[in-house]
Amino acid sequence: MLLSAPHLNGNEWKYIKDCLDTGWVSSAGQYVERFEQAVAAFTGAQYAVACVNGTAALHLSLLAAGVTIDEYVLVPDLTFIASVNAIVYTGARPLLIDADAQTWQWDIELLAHFLQTHTYVDDAGVCRLHKDHKRIRAMLPVHILGNMCDMDRLTALAHTYGIVMIEDASEAMGSYYKGKHAGTFGKMGCFSFNGNKIITTGGGGMIVTNDKALAMRLKHLSTQAKTDSIEYIHDECGYNYRLVNVLAAMGVAQMEQLPDFLQRKKAIDQQYKALLMGKKDFGFQAVLPEVSPNYWLMTVLTAEMPTLLARLTAQHIQARPLWRPMHLLPMFANDMFITQQKQTAFLYAHALSIPCSVGITESEIRTVAEVLLD
Ligand SMILES: *Cc1c(COP(=O)(O)O)cnc(C)c1O
Repeated sequence: MLLSAPHLNGNEWKYIKDCLDTGWVSSAGQYVERFEQAVAAFTGAQYAVACVNGTAALHLSLLAAGVTIDEYVLVPDLTFIASVNAIVYTGARPLLIDADAQTWQWDIELLAHFLQTHTYVDDAGVCRLHKDHKRIRAMLPVHILGNMCDMDRLTALAHTYGIVMIEDASEAMGSYYKGKHAGTFGKMGCFSFNGNKIITTGGGGMIVTNDKALAMRLKHLSTQAKTDSIEYIHDECGYNYRLVNVLAAMGVAQMEQLPDFLQRKKAIDQQYKALLMGKKDFGFQAVLPEVSPNYWLMTVLTAEMPTLLARLTAQHIQARPLWRPMHLLPMFANDMFITQQKQTAFLYAHALSIPCSVGITESEIRTVAEVLLD
């Protein structure tokens, strides 16, 4: 039984076959634009730019925000490596923020306290670190497991300190805060369509924004910064970060099914909670009343995590701990980790993600729960 397997029972074959039949398999073709329009319409963003994967989407967004060498970007300490790698690709360094014990998102109270005590805004309105006077250009909140933090507070902080917000909404397609879709709070928001995400193109990503000039620049950067449709003329160092038409075709088919997937995810979450809540020491991610999450990846907290992980694995039931915190990885060990209680290490030691594919059956969920409760 897999953790989060793709569900490909819609028009995937039909649209991909269309690409093969017509020969439009590569970077040109109608599905890229259709996929971008579908994501823009669903999220309520004005523009969407498709990318080869979520990591590339993050990298391009940071570049377009002007993030560069000798600068900092605020990011959660508990996240998938891609968020922090994308920062390092630009030459900037991460400022790692500890997690909130209840929601597992980054701790905004701690972030606010850090900004107040360790930074200043100079005469030009630029936020700088006291220690070395380097600029904090951007913040990269990550909507961990499709949940969200207090976005009103975060938006206000970004505004007060003149820090650009780019959301890593890779896991949050279908998540909302006060009815507003994840990824639409910041200057840009990034999504991933990797194989285990709520919708997938095998590999793929998307950036959403309401800024037309920015959307055009992102497209430009993603297509080798080519300025002429016939001649090979380029006006800066660009990237080959486009999504190809065949994969976009899959994305269009997946978007058609997203509302059904979201319903299923919610039902799976409810069934697991009915079976596990109040049993043993099982704990769950808290959800703020303003947040309507996509319930992407069912994850429980338990002191028995290592034992239960081994027991599930032995039964061929795929389960995973959360990510090892960034500050514990060798390449980020010297970066600043802002913490009071090292919650990310606690979550790493206790969180266990369990099977919750859209196609999982009620009896499979009962089987998983029985192994956990045994
Ligand atoms: C999946 C994911 C990404 C992007 O991953 P890709 O595999 O490059 O699409 C980035 N950040 C987070 C938090 C993710 O979960």
